[in-house]
Amino acid sequence: MNTPARYFSVALLLASTSFAFAELNIVTNLAPDIYFHEGDLKGHGHCNNGWIVFEDYVLVIDGNFPSGAKEIIPKIHAITDKPIRFAFDTHHHGDHAYGNQVWVENGATPVAYAGVVEEMKKFETGYYGNTPGRWEDSAKGRPDVAASKLKPPTLLFTKDMIFDDGKHRVELLHFGVAHTRGDGFAWLPKERILFTGDACVNGPYNFAGDGNIEQWVKTLELARKLGAKTICPGHGPIGGESTLKDQQEFFFELRKQVKKYSTRKPEQIKDSVDKIKSELQKNERIARYVGDFFPAQVEKAYTEMGGKPFLSKTASNDDHSQHAEAHGNEKATHQ
Ligand SMILES: [Zn+2]
Repeated sequence: MNTPARYFSVALLLASTSFAFAELNIVTNLAPDIYFHEGDLKGHGHCNNGWIVFEDYVLVIDGNFPSGAKEIIPKIHAITDKPIRFAFDTHHHGDHAYGNQVWVENGATPVAYAGVVEEMKKFETGYYGNTPGRWEDSAKGRPDVAASKLKPPTLLFTKDMIFDDGKHRVELLHFGVAHTRGDGFAWLPKERILFTGDACVNGPYNFAGDGNIEQWVKTLELARKLGAKTICPGHGPIGGESTLKDQQEFFFELRKQVKKYSTRKPEQIKDSVDKIKSELQKNERIARYVGDFFPAQVEKAYTEMGGKPFLSKTASNDDHSQHAEAHGNEKATHQ
């Protein structure tokens, strides 16, 4: 399945553009034994996946939703007959971890930074013996979730975890708080490919509700030090050398604009969201990050600076349902 001509064209494309060449639901061969798959976010809430074919097994990046896992398992089997042994959850969100049970049923062990389980303990209250939590919420709108069960990752690392068979090397890393408090990255030093989960996306997909924007900027700074040439984001098309910087700059500029209002009343910043939006849209490197979550992102940055929430309950519920939509309430995505 290794076609040198294809690597060549991928390399050329990466050299010539910082964004998209992959297509939804299409397997892209990035380098020998290394694959990327852009999930159908709009239609099914799926995240992006990657997988690395080692000598004896396959390591998959991200658990996806159950239906997302089922989408890519046959695609992996079409490429290799090696067993899928590990599925790495980049974070605890449903579109990255609710497919774990499907991976287990297919012989794989879910792996994650230990912080992912800490996040699950916070939000998956139903699983941990309390009132229904996010899984139960998601199951209301997603038949694939309703038909499966939550399976927290069982193979955990606190600093890093390395897969290395002499031919391929993948380092699972954690750099600090970003999109969540448990974000993990998968770094392939030989090929200089970085799988980022939602700590870096390529388009208007940033959800800041479970993270911290100020720390996110710092975490991205550490990730940038790796010197990746190819960025496989959690959502959106594959990126190049500048994608991490673009993502970082979006939050940096957002904070800079919001800071101007940090001592003003919530109503004043609420009225200025459109103004802040147009400021960010002027910057062509970050304009693609401005989207439906923008008011919620402004609110998050403002509250981190000590301000009070200014979105109405309904508006913030809307943001939550948009998040559910982006992060995979299947019913909502078909509206
Ligand atoms: Zn997420």
